[in-house]
Amino acid sequence: MATCSYTVPDKNVTGDNFYGASICNQTYIDYFWNTYGFAGNKDYWDDGFGWEDACNTDKPLARTFNACYLLTYSAQDYQNDAYSGPMLNWARRYVRDNCDDLRSLCGDGSAIARSFKGAFVDDRIELYLGFWYSKDVPGRAETLIHESRHQGGKPHNANFPAGSVFGAGKSGADSTWGYEGAWMYGALYLWWFFAQGARTTSALRERARQRGNLVIDNAFATHPGFNI
Ligand SMILES: [Zn+2]
Repeated sequence: MATCSYTVPDKNVTGDNFYGASICNQTYIDYFWNTYGFAGNKDYWDDGFGWEDACNTDKPLARTFNACYLLTYSAQDYQNDAYSGPMLNWARRYVRDNCDDLRSLCGDGSAIARSFKGAFVDDRIELYLGFWYSKDVPGRAETLIHESRHQGGKPHNANFPAGSVFGAGKSGADSTWGYEGAWMYGALYLWWFFAQGARTTSALRERARQRGNLVIDNAFATHPGFNI
């Protein structure tokens, strides 16, 4: 972290003050640490990333915990995470089942996060500065879901469409909504969170809607044909 430099955006806008009031609790910290792939990776989360300062929402660890809290508790009946129910309920389970190695790094600015998976690869998800400092808390949960979908075996399979803010013509898009890829998982979650998110604020739900629509409009080679 000594080589990372960043500025902390307005924490009222991003939701970090809101969720930060909840995560500073050893029960939650232990649960998130052991459930979402932090365990065994202390070396990635110390030295400025927040391991010694887990309640400080200026730092990456607490900002990740904020996303873990949103992911875990945003369904009214969050304890029911059956895959037969709404994604708002089972997204926490999907990340729990697919994200067992979560690391923090500065990154080079070219990505928010990356998923590594393969026969000769140490399967893992890496988070970079943009994850903590360019995304709000719902957007970070979206990224955890997105990268977990890659760990679950769904790579991107198309190029971004003309006009895409993610880079028209570049690889990294999903072909269609029906492909059920990482972008669809992220957008679907944001949609549910907008519609029915609990233990949050109406402002953050609205931000989730806007981010979900940005994904829908820019991340599919064939536009799904609807918006949130
Ligand atoms: Zn991706």
